[in-house]
Amino acid sequence: MRSPEQVLHEVFGFPSFRGQQEGIVRDVCAGLDALAIMPTGAGKSLCYQVPALVRPGCALVVSPLIALMNDQVRALRAYGVRAAALNSQSGDGGETIDALQNGQLDLLYVAPERAAMPGFRQLIARSDIALVAIDEAHCVSQWGHDFRPEYRQLRALCDLLPGTPRIALTATADVATRADILDQLGIAPDRMVVAGFDRPNIRYEVAPKVNAAKQLLAFLDTQRGRSGIVYASTRSQTDKTAAALVAHGINARAYHAGLDGVERARNQDAFVRAEDMVMVATIAFGMGIDKPDVRFVAHLGLPKSIEAYYQETGRAGRDGDPAVAHLLYGADDIARARGFIGEGGAEKIAADTARLNALIAFCETSGCRRVPLLTYFGEPAPPPCGNCDTCLSPPAMRDATEAARKLLSA
Ligand code: ADP
Ligand code: MG
Repeated sequence: MRSPEQVLHEVFGFPSFRGQQEGIVRDVCAGLDALAIMPTGAGKSLCYQVPALVRPGCALVVSPLIALMNDQVRALRAYGVRAAALNSQSGDGGETIDALQNGQLDLLYVAPERAAMPGFRQLIARSDIALVAIDEAHCVSQWGHDFRPEYRQLRALCDLLPGTPRIALTATADVATRADILDQLGIAPDRMVVAGFDRPNIRYEVAPKVNAAKQLLAFLDTQRGRSGIVYASTRSQTDKTAAALVAHGINARAYHAGLDGVERARNQDAFVRAEDMVMVATIAFGMGIDKPDVRFVAHLGLPKSIEAYYQETGRAGRDGDPAVAHLLYGADDIARARGFIGEGGAEKIAADTARLNALIAFCETSGCRRVPLLTYFGEPAPPPCGNCDTCLSPPAMRDATEAARKLLSA
C-alpha cells in the first residue's frame, strides 16, 4: 500500500501538503470520518483524492454540478488516475459500472440524483468502496445557499457502508449550516476541521477615519505603481473619489452598477490588464475577476460583515506576493450599520447584531488582527502574525511613544 506522501509526490507531483490537508488525509486513510471547512482554492479535493488512492477500493464522490465533475475527472485522468463520472450526460454508464465491479476504478463521481436511486444503492452496497466524499456539502442544509433535496438521501447511502469513511467538504463558514451538515450526514462533531482561511501574505491595517480623502491619498502614496481596489459605500462616493484621485495624477477609474454595461466592461478590462490602476468601486465590483496581482484593497468605510470583508480583501495578493488590506472606519459607519439592523424577526436582529459586533471587535482590537478574523471562521487563534498593523506597531507602544514624545517636548 502506498503512503499518502507517496501518492502526493508520485501521482500529483506536489512536494507537500498544504495546511490541514495532511491531518485530514491521514484520518480518512485510517477510516475516520471528516467534515472539512476550507475556503475556495484551499485544496479540498486532495483531502479525498489522496485517500482514494491509498485505500483499497473505489472512492465514491458526490458532486452537485456536472461541469465540476467533468473537470475533476479530466484533471485526474491527466494524472493517470482511473476516474469516471455518472451523470445525466454520461449515457447509461454501463462501461463505468463494469469498471467499478471489476475493481478498475479509483474514483467514481456521481450526481446526487444518481446516488439517491435504489438501483445505484444496491450496486454500491455490493462494491468495494474506499470512502464516500460529499463535495459542496452545504447543499445538504436548508440553511445553506444551494439546498439540494437529494443530498438528504446521502445519509442512507453512507449507512449502507458501515466502516467506510465519509468525508464532507464545503467552503461555507456559517455555523448553523455546519451543524446541520454534521447532523444530516451522521458525522461526529469532533470530526470537523476548519482551516485555511488565513492569507499570510495580506497585511491587515485598520485606522479610524479622521479625514478619509487625505488618509486615502497618504495610503495610495505608499502604493504608487501598483494596482488595487478602493471600496466606497455609494455610487456618488465612488465617482467623487475616482475623480479626486485622477486629479492627483493617479490612474484611477470608477465601477458601480449605475454605469452602463459598456463602460463597466471597459473599466474592468482595463483594470485586469493594467499594472498600476486603482479601481474605485462599490461592492458590485470583484466577483469573478481574475487578477492575481491586485496589490491592495482599501475600504473607505465598514464592510457589511467579516465575511464580506474577507471576500473583498481576499481579492488582493492571489499570486502569493505581499499585499495590503487597508480599512478606514468611523463612528458614522457604525451608526449607519446599526440603523440597517431592525428588519426581520428577533432571531435575525440578534444574528445581525452579533455579526456587526464581531466586525467592530476586529476593527478595535489592540491585538493581532488575525485572531478575531480567523476565530470568526472557527479556526484556532493563531500566534501573533507579525504582518498586521497591531503586530508591527502595538497600540500600547504607540501610545507610550506618543506620551514619551510629549514628555520630552514639554
Ligand atoms: P477547493 O476545492 O478547496 O476550492 P481545489 O481542491 O480545487 O480547491 O484546489 C485548488 C488548487 O490548489 C488546485 O489547482 C490544486 O491542484 C491545488 N492544490 C491543492 N493542494 C495542493 C498542494 N498540497 N500543493 C500544491 N497545489 C495544491
Ligand atoms: Mg472544490
